[in-house]
Amino acid sequence: MSRSSTTRPPITIDGPAVSGKSSVGSALASRIGYRFLDTGLMYRAATWNAVQNGVDVGDAEAVAQAVERMVFSVVDSDDGNKLIVNGKDVTPYLHSTSVDDSVSAVSAVPKVREIMVAEQRRLAGEGEIVMVGRDIGTVVLPGAPLKIYLTATARTRAIRRHREFVAGGVEVEFEDILRSMKQRDHLDSSRTNSPLIPAKDARVIDTDDLTFAEVVEHLVELAGEIL
Ligand code: C5P
Repeated sequence: MSRSSTTRPPITIDGPAVSGKSSVGSALASRIGYRFLDTGLMYRAATWNAVQNGVDVGDAEAVAQAVERMVFSVVDSDDGNKLIVNGKDVTPYLHSTSVDDSVSAVSAVPKVREIMVAEQRRLAGEGEIVMVGRDIGTVVLPGAPLKIYLTATARTRAIRRHREFVAGGVEVEFEDILRSMKQRDHLDSSRTNSPLIPAKDARVIDTDDLTFAEVVEHLVELAGEIL
């Protein structure tokens, strides 16, 4: 029997920053025995690498050159995806506010997207994957039979992010998080190249009034319809 007839199809989850995609997607993947890929980490790694190398993130040409030189891989671990850049595990640095503030500019550069999308499709080719991001259902894997779009208001998402920072002992002003989130929403949704937008056939789920467990249950049910 050929691989394609036995391999279960990919599932895509897109949505704005801190809509819960990564934690929900990872829980869904372990419930149904799929691998998990958080593509946001890949764009974050490209951003960290550019910032580390003193690249002006507003200079698209310089960003493109930096990403072309970057040797990176995504590896799975018990703690989730890890990003290895030039031989170093950079995962602990990827959610810093400096990366948050520059990631939308870096990920809008066409060369960055070309390199990341090629790697995402290669990983999807290995089969049975829940892939999470902004453009997975629209651009990376438009043929996926189940496409989820998770959303919540900017305020709800900023409250969640603020809680994460506080739990991690990091002091950040709530209003700064909200402002940065709204700016990132605007940049991600208004860019010409792969803007954040639900696929036409996406199942849109508003998580404002749902608990984490309720969202996961709902997604497991939806996955059951296609598996
Ligand atoms: O999902 P996360 O918030 O970690 O993503 C960080 C940034 O990476 C997003 O704000 C967006 O600019 C970019 N991104 C993207 N396409 C994806 C995933 C993330 O442009 N598929």
